Amino acid sequence: MRRLSLAERAAGKSVGFVPTMGALHEGHVSLMRRARAENDFVAVSIFVNPTQFGPGEDLERYPRDLERDLDLSAGAGVDAVFAPSAEEMYPKDFSSAVEPGAVAGPLEGASRPGHFRGVATVVAKLFNIVLPDRAYFGQKDAQQLAVIRNLVRGLNFGVQVVACPIVREPDGLAMSSRNAYLNPGERQAALCLARALKTAADLVADGERQATKVAAAMAEEIVEEPLAELDYAAVVDPDSFEDIEKITRPALALLAVRFGRTRLIDNLLLEPAGRSRAGRK
Ligand code: AMP
Repeated sequence: MRRLSLAERAAGKSVGFVPTMGALHEGHVSLMRRARAENDFVAVSIFVNPTQFGPGEDLERYPRDLERDLDLSAGAGVDAVFAPSAEEMYPKDFSSAVEPGAVAGPLEGASRPGHFRGVATVVAKLFNIVLPDRAYFGQKDAQQLAVIRNLVRGLNFGVQVVACPIVREPDGLAMSSRNAYLNPGERQAALCLARALKTAADLVADGERQATKVAAAMAEEIVEEPLAELDYAAVVDPDSFEDIEKITRPALALLAVRFGRTRLIDNLLLEPAGRSRAGRK
């Protein structure tokens, strides 16, 4: 992989990179297309990274279909797919790790201890292997994106991080490889995430500025769905992921919800419209 990438770079070509865990869907494809449009050479990695799964999580049952993923990647114009084995990435004597920083503390970090350490470490390894000029990440995993930006800044990776919008099913459910776990009842129930985020956006559009009130309204929407179990509903600063009191600048509404054994996340940027006018009063 590195030889391929070095040859491209030596020829003056730019390298775009899309890291994934496979079980590819339109969300992944949107990242690949963006990378294709902006780079001479596009690499995708497919690696279900064991170190970002906690004990009792879905590492073993995570969907895997390399043949289909290769077809989808080829269809999106990807030049190279890097699909290493776990043994190749983590030999027996492997003992290094990247500290993901304060942004990895709350929310996903609190619910999934060690998750972002695993993410930051594998992304650092992948960057060192693929040597990309640009790397493409989905806003779907908003906190992960913040962890990656912190990693790139903190460890001086010469990689431009490109954030891509969330791709949704026609009914609003954010695309995710984990949606495949949902039975028909849970699939219907899962619409409560998009519904709760819309409630949050509507409240802010109507002038609500108290972050706790917006978060509580989202939580209520989830609690009303019998098949859903709320992990967290939060409104935070979109860069630091710290709690905010008032929504006076764009804020990020985030949700994590369980449906049976399946845990889904989603988020939406809340933009207080007319805040400049309010500020002039
Ligand atoms: P994953 O395979 O779940 O690790 O995701 C690989 C990349 O695809 C990450 O940067 C995700 O944020 C991104 N991604 C996953 N789902 C979506 C989606 N629905 N829309 C946009 N990007 C996504």
